[in-house]
Amino acid sequence: MAQIPLPPGSTLGILGGGQLGRMLALAAARLGFDVSVLERDADSPAGRVGLRTIVGPYTDKAALEELAAEASLVTYEFENVPAEAVLTLQALGVEVAPGPEALAVAQDRIAEKQFLNASGAPTVAYASADTPEEAVAAAAEVGLPALMKTRREGYDGKGQRWVEHAADAAGAFAALGGVPVILEAAADFARELSIIAARGRDGAIAIYPLAENHHEGGILRRSVAPAIATPALVEQAERIARRVLQGLNYVGVIGIELFELRDGRLLVNEIAPRVHNTGPWTQDGCEADQFAQPIRAVAGWPPAPARAFAQVEMLNLLGEEADAWLKFAGEPETRLHLYGKRAALPGRKMGHVNRVRPL
Ligand code: AMP
Repeated sequence: MAQIPLPPGSTLGILGGGQLGRMLALAAARLGFDVSVLERDADSPAGRVGLRTIVGPYTDKAALEELAAEASLVTYEFENVPAEAVLTLQALGVEVAPGPEALAVAQDRIAEKQFLNASGAPTVAYASADTPEEAVAAAAEVGLPALMKTRREGYDGKGQRWVEHAADAAGAFAALGGVPVILEAAADFARELSIIAARGRDGAIAIYPLAENHHEGGILRRSVAPAIATPALVEQAERIARRVLQGLNYVGVIGIELFELRDGRLLVNEIAPRVHNTGPWTQDGCEADQFAQPIRAVAGWPPAPARAFAQVEMLNLLGEEADAWLKFAGEPETRLHLYGKRAALPGRKMGHVNRVRPL
């Protein structure tokens, strides 16, 4: 077992080599840690800034053994890490944080909704369905229109279909592959917000200001933070964040996606047990960014302050939008962050810019 607090000079393992892993690795390096990345691609965004990449899928026993031999602690950049990988690492004596409870909740939309409602973090009404007949019954139960989502492995709006009429439910179930689904009542929201919060091993909590998020085609395009919000709304969001962190006995950073209803109530859409894609604004708007938090938390260091000193408009650069890097680099209020991806495929997240205005 690792020495806690973990001293600088130790090696941290990161499962996943994408852009979030890259920014985690950079944050770890800033605190004096070395990073080993486990990732399928030998040339990944995170691997290229880490000490080294262990190439393989998360289920590769030999790769996990290699990681366990090097890393004192392991964290991850995305929540669909197979439970099997976490168990294997634990059996090899290496802790994975945030732990298996948080992963189990975040990997299954039904378990997630059950946990949230039991913790006093409200969600839309929902019902589960494992068969076309159950899908029809679930649609009748939650009311229409309803959003059908696969219980597992959806992201960026993938694995989702709107059901407008009862007669469409069985067809939507088939179109999603005949796998177990959740039917969610439509949230009539005024805005989509997110709140990111960190919790240390001693239970200390740091909460970032709310971000207001705008999606196109299921992909995040733009976040503005701190979002314009009344103190009552901020208090409501922070209460939800505390309940979620405490309910999971959480160690690390979590992203909580929220719907702000027209009557001012907040509902939780989903939680991500990791650094969040609405959180890179913290790199240029806050005293410490979200990427430092999970490194500090898993290492047993205190959470960093999450106060904002600037308002930031974060724009994701998709595909060829990143080709305008020289223009962005020349704008005094713009901070450019590129992920080092080789090919600018359409819709691929290549980087982001933070446009900064002092508060
Ligand atoms: P998700 O993959 O669950 O984050 O959903 C992607 C996007 O779909 C959200 O950011 C919302 O814009 C929309 N969405 C998800 N669930 C609902 C819902 N129950 N009602 C209305 N819109 C939703």
